[in-house]
Amino acid sequence: MYRTHTCGALRLSDVGKTVTLSGWVAISRDLGGLTFTDLRDRYGITQLVFDMDDNAELCMQARTLGREFVIQASGIVRERASKNPNRETGDIEIKVTDLKILNAAKTPPFTIQDDTDGGDDLRMKYRYLDLRRNAVQKNLIFRSNLAIETRKFLSEQGFIEIETPNLIKSTPEGARDFVVPSRMNKGQFYALPQSPQTFKQILMVAGFDKYFQIVKCFRDEDLRADRQPEFTQIDCEMSFVHQEDILNIFEGLTKYLFKRTLGVDLPDFPRMTYDEAFARFGSDKPDLRFGMEFVNLSDVAKGKGFPVFDGAETILAICAPGCAHYSRKQLDELTEWLKRPQIGAKGLVYVKMEADGSIKSSVDKFYSPDDLKVWTDRAGAQAGDLLLVLCGEDEKTHKQLNELRLEMGTRLDLRKGDDFKPLWVLDFPLLEWDEAANRFFAMHHPFTAPKADDIPKMESDDIQVLKSMRADAYDLVINGVEIGGGSIRIHDRDLQSRNFKLLGFTPEEAEAQFGFLLGAFEYGAPPHGGLAFGFDRLNAVMNGANSIRDFIAFPKNNQGRDMMIDAPSGIKAEQLKELGIDVRAEI
Ligand code: ASP
Repeated sequence: MYRTHTCGALRLSDVGKTVTLSGWVAISRDLGGLTFTDLRDRYGITQLVFDMDDNAELCMQARTLGREFVIQASGIVRERASKNPNRETGDIEIKVTDLKILNAAKTPPFTIQDDTDGGDDLRMKYRYLDLRRNAVQKNLIFRSNLAIETRKFLSEQGFIEIETPNLIKSTPEGARDFVVPSRMNKGQFYALPQSPQTFKQILMVAGFDKYFQIVKCFRDEDLRADRQPEFTQIDCEMSFVHQEDILNIFEGLTKYLFKRTLGVDLPDFPRMTYDEAFARFGSDKPDLRFGMEFVNLSDVAKGKGFPVFDGAETILAICAPGCAHYSRKQLDELTEWLKRPQIGAKGLVYVKMEADGSIKSSVDKFYSPDDLKVWTDRAGAQAGDLLLVLCGEDEKTHKQLNELRLEMGTRLDLRKGDDFKPLWVLDFPLLEWDEAANRFFAMHHPFTAPKADDIPKMESDDIQVLKSMRADAYDLVINGVEIGGGSIRIHDRDLQSRNFKLLGFTPEEAEAQFGFLLGAFEYGAPPHGGLAFGFDRLNAVMNGANSIRDFIAFPKNNQGRDMMIDAPSGIKAEQLKELGIDVRAEI
């Protein structure tokens, strides 16, 4: 038997017992007469003691133990003289009578502790060592529980978990496909699914009216902290439902998951249309943990002789509470931050409402105190507050002010990781106009149904009319993060063909790429809809973390590389030949 207990199990009540533990040496301290060794496994750390006076040979053996050696130690549990209240096993130690080295270890390249000294790439290269750290293990255990609870909830609601294939053809979700060459069909390629979208719709045609899957999806796009080339979704689809039914089920799932895994009771989720979210927060994923809503000053700030505002389409402000004390230097620094190309604002106007109620601004030359009071009143500013004002083209200004609002929320510490503010964003536009490509793209994906009232607009060739079409498409947002989204789908062949046409597919292209789906729609497709939650993101947000990498056992780095196995990598010419890929083909 390798062990009678884990390294997290023993307590004062076990004193006197003879036990055997196995694990990794976290640290060994040789104090001359005594050697103390911390033994670690995923359950905790237990202190082992070797006593020179008692057994010199054993103690000498203990002195050879290096960090991360795998050992087995037997001995007697005894009460510790100096207890460690920070450890669950901190009241006891094992007086070792027998030691076996199960495997030696090289000195690890970084310390295996909560606050490790290892940089990102090093930790990724030695991920198996990184995964020994408590912090990372906690995350993966949380993830495992979240998946189990998801399955419990959905199966109790009558959902069936069905696997869909990974070797398929393109499912457009707005990213590039990863492709896999086919050896048996030379010159042809599978695409890895960007999502199981078309398959889950086919499952609805097949009559499985409640489907779910916790599933890997693959998207070849530029990486960020909250994006990985392969990621996991809780993917769902239902038949004979309206948007309302879907929102209710998945609000229920979210509340259940928060309660079961964090003990947090979430109130009913507020709802906001896409247009409203954009007007109030400049974003379709507003962070509702703090206020600072947009205040539109366009009507009151124009026409007073300030050329910058007079020539602007939109003038918007936020009110930063308690920031009137900002120095010239701080305001200059904020202005520079806004002017960086990532944000691209032209400048920043401020209005301070001083503690004594007087008003000072960077545009005093153009506006009287009474003029400015109209602004501060509209923003509901109190003494000590600071109005930050941006202007320019409508859409751009909203987006820039969104960045500023989030930045101020962070600076003012208003975005706490354990404060959860979910909401539904509804009524997304059906289509998104791409200026550069001079064509429409689907805002969600090409299978999303327009709202019933907007269907006639599909016949129009007026871009503005088409842009105004809305869909029964929705996103769940928590703390400014898009957790997931979905829509009611088109289930009618003709409507789907019309939508493909709007998206620039010729009938032949649509047939070649999606003929199977259009065909299925001719054999009794029920009305249906669904959504998918980003599972990695949900884990991160629930733990107040910014990066999804901490919740993925083997993530890729910013270049899409797995540093541990060193992938992607070249393959042999022979293999390429077998796949029918011309090695001389232009790259
Ligand atoms: N397939 C969609 C996505 O991956 C989700 C859905 O519409 O159900 O975002």
